[in-house]
Amino acid sequence: MHKTPSEYARWVRRVHELSHDGELDVRDLVERCGGRVDEFPIHGFAGLLLPLGDGFFGIALREGDSEKRKRFTIAHELGHFCIPSHRDRAALCVAPDLSQDGSNKLAEREASEFAAELLMPRRVIESIVATGSIDIARALTISARFNVSLVSAAIRMCECGFSKLCHASSLNSVTLGEGG
Ligand SMILES: [Zn+2]
Repeated sequence: MHKTPSEYARWVRRVHELSHDGELDVRDLVERCGGRVDEFPIHGFAGLLLPLGDGFFGIALREGDSEKRKRFTIAHELGHFCIPSHRDRAALCVAPDLSQDGSNKLAEREASEFAAELLMPRRVIESIVATGSIDIARALTISARFNVSLVSAAIRMCECGFSKLCHASSLNSVTLGEGG
């Protein structure tokens, strides 16, 4: 059975015995996976995965991006490498940190789901979101704690918060259904 992108991210975390909380050293992880990161003055896209054969790969980054954006782009490109159906294709990615919103192509969404779970594990984010309101202060906390952009943190916070709300409402309807 196929794993979801989040399951692949959790699998990578397990195999490399990565801590679940705090900032992930994503460049070190890429090296351990057989990859190499380089930066170029590129225009029109933020990142590129280039499979090199024999399990090796290169990741090209836009050098003008902030370190936080670069970290998400690296995790996204690593997702293309780790998700088997993406693996042997070169991928050129325009805005990885914005492609969690469902408006982009499936492969882009999958790689960004992988990146979000790798950098901001759902289990930890849900525990942060569970303790209060979904607001900008909380997004800033997540951004600082995991060294991700405020945009990525806000998107992740909403994803994890909404699933909590959805879960709660489906539990309600189950309860109501049983009652009726
Ligand atoms: Zn991509």
